[in-house]
Amino acid sequence: MKICLFDIDGTLVLTDGAGKDAMIDSFQSTAGIDVQTTAVRVSGKTDRGIAKELFDAHNKELTEEAWQLFLTSYMTGLARNLPLRQGRVLPGIEALLNQLAEREDVALGLLTGNVAQGAYLKLTHYDLMHHFAFGGYGDLHPDRNDVAQAAKDACEAHLGHPVAGDQIWVIGDTANDVRCARHIGAKAVAVATGVFDREVLAKSDPDLLFDDLEDFGPLLEAILE
Ligand SMILES: [Mg+2]
Repeated sequence: MKICLFDIDGTLVLTDGAGKDAMIDSFQSTAGIDVQTTAVRVSGKTDRGIAKELFDAHNKELTEEAWQLFLTSYMTGLARNLPLRQGRVLPGIEALLNQLAEREDVALGLLTGNVAQGAYLKLTHYDLMHHFAFGGYGDLHPDRNDVAQAAKDACEAHLGHPVAGDQIWVIGDTANDVRCARHIGAKAVAVATGVFDREVLAKSDPDLLFDDLEDFGPLLEAILE
C-alpha cells in the first residue's frame, strides 16, 4: 500500500487569490487588522499559523472566539470568491488523480494548511474532492509538521492499520511541504507550479522535483515502484 498526501494550493489548484483575499477581508472585518495583500505570505503555511502570526504582529490575542469569528467570515468570503475568480486545476492533476484513484494499492489523502472546510470548498469547486477520503488540515496546528502527523494519523484511521513513513509520498509546492514530509519519514515530491521556482525548491532537497505534473509518468513510476 502506498499513500499519496497532496497539498492543495499551488499543487492541485490555483484559486487566483480567492482564498488569500477572503482571509485578508476576514482579518479586516472581524479583528480590525488592516493588512496589505503583498505583506502576507501564505504559501506553505497553515491557516491557523497565518492567523496567529497576524494577530501576534498586531498585539492581539488569537482567542478561540476570535478564531471562530475569523473562520466564519473567511469561509463565507471563500465560497463567494471561488466562482468569481479565474482559478484552475493545474496541468496533469485530473488525469493523475484518476489513475491513482483506480488503484487498490494506493490511498489518496490531503496534507494542507487549509482548514478542513476551506479544503472542502476549494476542492468541491474544482470537482476534485471525491478523490480524498482523509486528510490533515490547518484548523488546529500553526506548524505544518503537526499537520503532517495529523494526516498520517487520519490515514491510519482510514485504513485501519499503521503505515510506515516510507510508504507515504507528500506532494507539494513549497519547502515547507518537503520539510513536513521528512517529519513523518515520508518521501517528498516538489512541484514548481506555486510561487517557488525549481531552483528554490531544489534547496529543500526533495526526492523528486518537477516543473509541473503534466507528464506525470515518472512520478507514477516512482510511487508504484
Ligand atoms: Mg501549496
